[in-house]
Amino acid sequence: MNVEIVTIGDELLLGFTIDTNAAHLARELAAIGVAIVRRSTCGDGADDIASAVREALDRTGAVITTGGLGPTSDDLTKPSIAAIFGRAMRLDEAILENLKGRWKARGWPGDMPIANRQQAMIPDGATVLANRHGSAPGIWLDDDAGRWVAMLPGVPREMRGMCADVLLPRVRERLGANTTVIASRTLRTTGVAESALPELLGPLASGFDGLSLAYLPGWDGVDLRLTCRGHMAAEATAMLDKGVAAMRERLGATVYGNGSDDLAALVLQLLRDRQMTIVVAESCTGGMLGARLTAIPGSSDVVLGGVIAYANEVKETQLGVRAATLATYGAVSEETAREMASGARSRFNADVAVAVTGIAGPDGGTPEKPVGTICIAVDVQGAVRSVRPAVVGDRDEIRRRSAQAALSLVRRMLVHPSETP
Ligand code: ATP
Repeated sequence: MNVEIVTIGDELLLGFTIDTNAAHLARELAAIGVAIVRRSTCGDGADDIASAVREALDRTGAVITTGGLGPTSDDLTKPSIAAIFGRAMRLDEAILENLKGRWKARGWPGDMPIANRQQAMIPDGATVLANRHGSAPGIWLDDDAGRWVAMLPGVPREMRGMCADVLLPRVRERLGANTTVIASRTLRTTGVAESALPELLGPLASGFDGLSLAYLPGWDGVDLRLTCRGHMAAEATAMLDKGVAAMRERLGATVYGNGSDDLAALVLQLLRDRQMTIVVAESCTGGMLGARLTAIPGSSDVVLGGVIAYANEVKETQLGVRAATLATYGAVSEETAREMASGARSRFNADVAVAVTGIAGPDGGTPEKPVGTICIAVDVQGAVRSVRPAVVGDRDEIRRRSAQAALSLVRRMLVHPSETP
């Protein structure tokens, strides 16, 4: 089955909203074997919607839209698409009653605002797609020629919920049995350059056993996505399980997670499992490491606190870094990072401390210590390990990559305590 996605909204065209709906739909549909052959975006105008959807329908006969189902005057998706199918709009009493009930339940005094009646207007002969995540229901409109359009709301949370609840089951029904899928798995790596990964992967580097392999670099590392096309779901799962195991064996500790795993969340869990606490001592990251850790719900049982030790005197007075260490090796040195970590751990009485000091630029680099020189140290109950990775990018990227590298060292010390860095 070939499908096109049309996302609707001036805010998408203007770049104020990133089109996450199309990406989500594409992923979900590919997983059940539907090929998205084209994605387009149009403005809120009735003519814009009509022409974008008509052209997409002419190509594939199957279109999914998001946006423009709300109660405001720019929400013209339904009448524009009804016109393509030559259908009139009618008031759906059941939707109207449901909307009135929602407004009453909210404690709204008096009648529902008149504008909301528009949400109860549907094209003649359309199927209403229930929306348990918001007020605007979705619409499924089809004709005798087998052409169909599914209209979903624009709000991403509602759209995702409806995709799972009603859209995918309907599309699956149309596909029938014996449909092949496009299935993927992602392994998350950090600390190894994209160009160095093929060497580690050896014969697996360009895909293997019917699986294709994509390298997806980002500030937090390189994701490796294995994709299986043209097999039934169960077979694809088995092939991917085998593929992931083979890659993990070659990559070892370089892999820290799967899918969209967050390294900070994994580190917190590792610490929690060991009933350990952590503190941070941050220079160039200025609190990013603490922010990453405390962004995870429930972090308070593991994270005690930390120090942003930007100036040398703060490194000395708050963390106990020796003046002689700073004078001999400099603020950006593994020696200083190690004293920052040990000082933080003992002062906060924590099990683990992680320290980062480095040159984020754009100024401050020297031939010996260019911009991107980062020193990281981790102290786990007195066992201290430090690394000095060379980090690339602008100031923001260097800081983010440094925080990720620091979390990575914590993870490696917990998971592989005897490993040398
Ligand atoms: P509502 O009932 O809220 O009016 P709607 O179906 O009319 O829903 P829109 O008004 O088009 O949807 O968009 C609602 C919100 O969802 C807006 O904040 C918009 O920026 C966001 N949104 C719309 N389309 C997308 C998209 N493709 N990707 C991500 N966000 C989107």
